[in-house]
Amino acid sequence: MDLHLSGKVVLVTAASKGLGKATARQFAREGAKVVICARSEIIEKAAAEIETETGTPVLALRVDVTQPADIERVINATVEKFGGLDILVTNAGGPPPGTFDDTDLTAWENAVNLNLLSAVQLVKSALPYLRQSIAPAILTITSSSTKQPVKNLVLSNSIRLAVIGLTKTLSQELGSDQIRVNSILPGWTYTERVDELLNARTAKSGKTKAEEITSINAGVPLGRMGTPEEFANVAVFLCSPAASYVNGVMLQVDGGMNAGTF
Ligand code: NAD
Repeated sequence: MDLHLSGKVVLVTAASKGLGKATARQFAREGAKVVICARSEIIEKAAAEIETETGTPVLALRVDVTQPADIERVINATVEKFGGLDILVTNAGGPPPGTFDDTDLTAWENAVNLNLLSAVQLVKSALPYLRQSIAPAILTITSSSTKQPVKNLVLSNSIRLAVIGLTKTLSQELGSDQIRVNSILPGWTYTERVDELLNARTAKSGKTKAEEITSINAGVPLGRMGTPEEFANVAVFLCSPAASYVNGVMLQVDGGMNAGTF
């Protein structure tokens, strides 16, 4: 199937590794012009790797998505380099693990900045350009924790629900501009973030990492964690003109882990 992504301009934030990087790579494979950002210099290495593999130029910027000025900078650089913006994928690092008792107010404020306000600011800054696109789309990366809270992740369990509310609202309000807005709710997908969460779990439970993985896999009908590439394939399709009538969808990519009927 032709996803009609050739020449489209795509910004994927927090894309130096994990789900963001895999998504950026897949867009580049489809011939899109890709901009990626993250806080450290590994973003440039990620861009070089994707360019080498796909032959597509990738713009890399060092950006902290909690800083509104950085967000303005990445949007402006995107438009300056590629002449517009068609697709925005809002991603950020995950908030630290912990229970309610472990988590102080500063951690709550930081997580709101990282996971909610970054998406708000990105959409605000991108909208003037998305409104000029002929096939605009926004994808927020949230979590399966919005359907079923995950143990030891009170911040993610709470704050990502606000991003779902934002996504759903935008899908209603921006429909008249033909801007489709969807979210992917990843389940367990093996990345560095998951490795960190597993370390936090083993420190609390006294189990080995292998035992923790076995217990997670037992809760997934497909019996395993997903790969970043499996996530990226869905993300790229959902943002592409091939999904032109899909709007306001909160799509689980979790191997069937969430068994709810809605
Ligand atoms: P990851 O830790 O592997 O990658 C996170 C990326 O975010 C990195 O590129 C990092 O540099 C970047 N980043 C972190 N803070 C940033 C900031 N302030 N500004 C700019 N960039 C920043 O994580 P991942 O597994 O790829 O997950 C991506 C998102 O999806 C996270 O929010 C995570 O919590 C969520 N999620 C992941 C899973 C999973 O199983 N992997 C499941 C559910 C939700």
